[in-house]
Amino acid sequence: MMDDCIFCKIAKGVIPCSKIYESQNTLVFLDLMPVNRGHALVIPKEHYETLLDIPEDILKEMSSSVKTAAGAVKEGIGADGLNIMMNNYEAAGQVVPHAHIHIVPRFKGDGLKLWPGGKYKKDEMEKIRKSIIASL
Ligand code: AMP
Ligand code: ZN
Repeated sequence: MMDDCIFCKIAKGVIPCSKIYESQNTLVFLDLMPVNRGHALVIPKEHYETLLDIPEDILKEMSSSVKTAAGAVKEGIGADGLNIMMNNYEAAGQVVPHAHIHIVPRFKGDGLKLWPGGKYKKDEMEKIRKSIIASL
């Protein structure tokens, strides 16, 4: 446990949360400042900072908790859709440095806008594809 980590404290029960689901290594609770009502967070109980730090078996368990909780959120509050999002590293908007996956319920016409689409310059896409593949 990281002493100054708020999600470690939640996982250990040192500070309370609105728990909706847990498995052996994961916990799901409502986000305190929801994008839409029912917005939930899935965390590993152990401290890992980002997606890239999470061991494969824990990641699989998180994925399973995402599916279980997302289904319950959708049905439980009558959402029309779901966004599953994860901010990794400060540059991507990660504020709490304990990995977490957002389950954001969506409602028809809720007006939330994600992912403004950009454009590639000529040949740029292929260069980028090659750089990524070289790092696999
Ligand atoms: P991120 O920007 O991806 O790091 O998101 C952190 C999220 O954690 C935000 O949506 C916050 O509203 C949420 N949050 C922070 N502290 C708590 C807490 N004590 N209980 C529930 N959610 C929290
Ligand atoms: Zn932590």
